[in-house]
Amino acid sequence: MAGSGHGRNSAAHAFGSILDANPDALLALAGDGTVTLANAAAARLFGYPREELAGRDYLNLLSPASRAEAEHLIQQLASGAEAFPPPRGITAVHSDGTEFPAEVAGSRIPSRGRPGDLPGNGQAEFDDGVPAGTRLLLSVRSTSHRQAADADLREAMSLLTATLESTADGILVMSSDGHVAGFNEQFLTMWNIHAELLRGDSEEPIMRLIGAQVSDPIAFAARLQELEDDPEAESHDVLDFKDGRTFERYSRPQRVGDNIVGRVWSFRDVTPRRKAQEQAHQAMLNLAAQAEKLRAMAFQDPLTGLANRAVFNDALAEALQEPRLKAVDVLLLDLDDFKEVNDILGHQAGDDMLIEVSRRLRGCVTTADVVARLGGDEFVVLLTACPDADEIAACIVRCLHVPVTINGTVLRPRLSLGLASLGQDSVGPSELLRQADIAMYAAKAAGKNRFLRFHPDMMTALVRRTDMESALQLAVPRGEITVDYQPIVSHRMGQVVKLEALARWNRGGERIPPSVFIPLAERTGLINEIGAEVMALGMVQLAEWLGEDPSRSLSVNVSGVQLQDQDFAASVLTLAEASGVAAYQLVLEVTESVFFDADCSLIKQLSTLRDAGARVALDDFGTGYSSLGRLQDLPVDTVKIDKTFVSMVRTGQERLPILSSMINMAHSLGLTVTAEGVETAAQADYLTALECDSLQGYLFSLPEPGERLGHALRHAEEALQALKAR
Ligand code: C2E
Ligand code: CA
Ligand code: CA
Repeated sequence: MAGSGHGRNSAAHAFGSILDANPDALLALAGDGTVTLANAAAARLFGYPREELAGRDYLNLLSPASRAEAEHLIQQLASGAEAFPPPRGITAVHSDGTEFPAEVAGSRIPSRGRPGDLPGNGQAEFDDGVPAGTRLLLSVRSTSHRQAADADLREAMSLLTATLESTADGILVMSSDGHVAGFNEQFLTMWNIHAELLRGDSEEPIMRLIGAQVSDPIAFAARLQELEDDPEAESHDVLDFKDGRTFERYSRPQRVGDNIVGRVWSFRDVTPRRKAQEQAHQAMLNLAAQAEKLRAMAFQDPLTGLANRAVFNDALAEALQEPRLKAVDVLLLDLDDFKEVNDILGHQAGDDMLIEVSRRLRGCVTTADVVARLGGDEFVVLLTACPDADEIAACIVRCLHVPVTINGTVLRPRLSLGLASLGQDSVGPSELLRQADIAMYAAKAAGKNRFLRFHPDMMTALVRRTDMESALQLAVPRGEITVDYQPIVSHRMGQVVKLEALARWNRGGERIPPSVFIPLAERTGLINEIGAEVMALGMVQLAEWLGEDPSRSLSVNVSGVQLQDQDFAASVLTLAEASGVAAYQLVLEVTESVFFDADCSLIKQLSTLRDAGARVALDDFGTGYSSLGRLQDLPVDTVKIDKTFVSMVRTGQERLPILSSMINMAHSLGLTVTAEGVETAAQADYLTALECDSLQGYLFSLPEPGERLGHALRHAEEALQALKAR
């Protein structure tokens, strides 16, 4: 403090320079507050040359608002009550008039020299350069920097508060002693808590409120306890609410320096996100299930769960490429008359039957064997390393024939099975399958409900069949189709009342039976042409016989295929008119299978003919799946009881309720009954006793060609007379 004084010694000078080096402003005051000395820092701080500071009232250096505070400090010092009172915050004034915050501390300077030499009493100066009367020392430090920091802090605080309030998270700060140290509005909203509750002393009601909301309050409380026991721990978990909401919960210790003073909880409502996640998850599951279903469908028959054709083809190709496999057998099978089950009992029953057949098939083979459904009622079994394929084939036929009740009806599934095996000469998969197919066809032709092993001769049969087909195409144009007539007699009237026209094919001298060429004609559609030919020949050849007696009639067999033709009825009536045959002298024989999927058009054909007077007979009655009860729904006039029932009569002494009930039932429905295949007098008597209206069979006459008609009629009448004579 190089003052204005004189006569300084060197020690005083040294001390003065030290004071000048002090970064704080130092002001020495006289007892009345006049500045007696100021250091360099004071000159800098207040912006006055040092000389101008001396002699000023220190109060002039302060803002008016701070003066009282400063005076208070001075008094404290002066009274000596406190040697070093705590510093005060004041506002100081710069020479340019600007105010700045500052901190002021003070101390007393011990009085020296003569008593009564009071500060301010003179301008005397001690030899240390301190003016006489100097009593106090003030140290002033600008706190502008600190205020800037404070402002920063305040700003940070308000920013923090704003952030806390604007965040979507609910935040709660708990002090280590279990008090609520802070929270935001969002926290209250999320937990439905009143702010009042948080200001209370006890956390008990809060915990109750929270516990009532979470799905698992016990786990919730346990987790809290865990965290309480481990204040350092951080946690992140998920809370499920009873009302379906889901919160994410974060928690971390609140630290001040190195000390943990509490715990910060942050809650985030993730319900929409979780729901979206759940939906996405569900969608993924659905997709996966769908993909699985699609995948399964690609390999599986959806109805039966068996393998499909693709799987079978792959397995067969693989088996044939495996050199170590000694035996590879293909069993191709097709249900007999499955169409009737479907048509009569309905598609559900058909499906049930296919499922049952599949189950039985699987039961006949080992799990290693492939059982596939190729479509419809066609199945295939691939046996690898099977010691006896014939035994398996026989077993399949046997097992499938066991009765099964479907839709209340007892059915005995029947099938035709073709078996082909890998022999010495290796064949490809398609060849093996073809051989099985040929064998299956042969099994059907041999009477169904059986299996046949492929034999090269069957190839010949196949060739014959295709050959036959092309020959049948030419049969009508070549005049190879002829008609035989078989009498139908009325026992009561003692005469022939009907002649049934039966088609014959003389193929270049070889007689092909109707059981062979009729199905072929039906398959190829040639039956339309052949049927029309039979009808035309019959009317022409019998016109005279029919004309002699209006009670006589001509019976003609008609296939379902023919009835599909919209013009069928019209063409029959036209033909009858052209040949001079009355429509009422016509009987059309149809099997019940034509009614299976009867559409309106088919019924219309039959109605047109019946309206014109023609009658409809139900042929082969009793052989199909249909029941007696169904009869009343069909547009028929006559039933023809199949020869299998007639052949049950051997001695004539047996009781055959089936025959009597068929006849009674038909009669009760107003239908007439014809029995087919009557070969013995006993049968004729038996049927006559049951009041069967007409009889037909070898007993009366074989079917005979037109030129032998007289012979046939005579034979039939003789047989009738012989019966009467018994
Ligand atoms: P279907 O209509 O049931 O004809 C009766 C069959 O029984 C005839 O066989 C006949 O010769 C035979 N038969 C007659 N009396 C007796 C007998 O006392 N004992 C035995 N065991 N059999 C007897 P066929 O002529 O071989 O005809 C077979 C089948 O071919 C016919 O059965 C019929 O369904 C069909 N058919 C024949 N001609 C035609 C035709 O022109 N059109 C159509 N769509 N089918 C025909
Ligand atoms: Ca017939
Ligand atoms: Ca028949």
